[in-house]
Amino acid sequence: MGVPTLGCSCAVCASTDAHDRRLRPSALLRWREPAAESSACAERTVVIDTGPDFREQALRERLALVDAVFYTHSHVDHIMGMDDLRPLSFISARQGRYIPLYASAETATVLEQVFAYTFSPQATYPTRARVELKPLAGRNAVLGVEFVRIPLLHGEMPIAGFRFGNAAYLTDVSAIPEPSFALLQGLEVLVLSALRHKPHPSHATLEQALTWARRIGARQTWFTHISHDLGHEETNRTLPVNARLAYDGLSVPVIL
Ligand SMILES: [Zn+2]
Ligand SMILES: [Zn+2]
Repeated sequence: MGVPTLGCSCAVCASTDAHDRRLRPSALLRWREPAAESSACAERTVVIDTGPDFREQALRERLALVDAVFYTHSHVDHIMGMDDLRPLSFISARQGRYIPLYASAETATVLEQVFAYTFSPQATYPTRARVELKPLAGRNAVLGVEFVRIPLLHGEMPIAGFRFGNAAYLTDVSAIPEPSFALLQGLEVLVLSALRHKPHPSHATLEQALTWARRIGARQTWFTHISHDLGHEETNRTLPVNARLAYDGLSVPVIL
């Protein structure tokens, strides 16, 4: 819902700590790739989820190009900013390619319905986003970096988390199927959703997420997808040193 949450005046929604202002969750992975014939480096960018706040987040991070997008699932807080890829997709299209959107079959079906004016074979809207849906495989290579799909459950809904190098991004999790733990060995950085203390039918509590974080054993765990029930400072005081609430704009080095 974002924090502050509409219509709410609780202590976290009214907090003056910038860490308590939370846009909808998303991740941006940036790396530099040596260019073939010069000493210059090309910047590569992959976005995970384009929620309703994508435009604002992209402006904050000065995003000028997107090489690919990965979708975790089809809920509005993860897809609704897709259309704001348009100006960036025009830049890609001028360079001869559409932005690939990696999505499961279920997520692709919803994207095609919600953004029919973009994806329908009959679409005639002239300035629609220059994007193309790509089937999400178990392992997906983007410009030399492998994105491993991590099967997760979000209530009854199967969704995708992603591992890249020594890091993983798992949001909207209510259960981690046993075989998925094997894909999460040797992590340095884990980003994991933790909504609140009170149980929710399709999101883990902070306590459940901490149990998984301990089992996965990443050097550092960052919690995301946090509701207004968890204040930044007061919650961090209760966490072990290698687990912290993430916050908007947090940047973490990873090895790909
Ligand atoms: Zn969701
Ligand atoms: Zn969500």
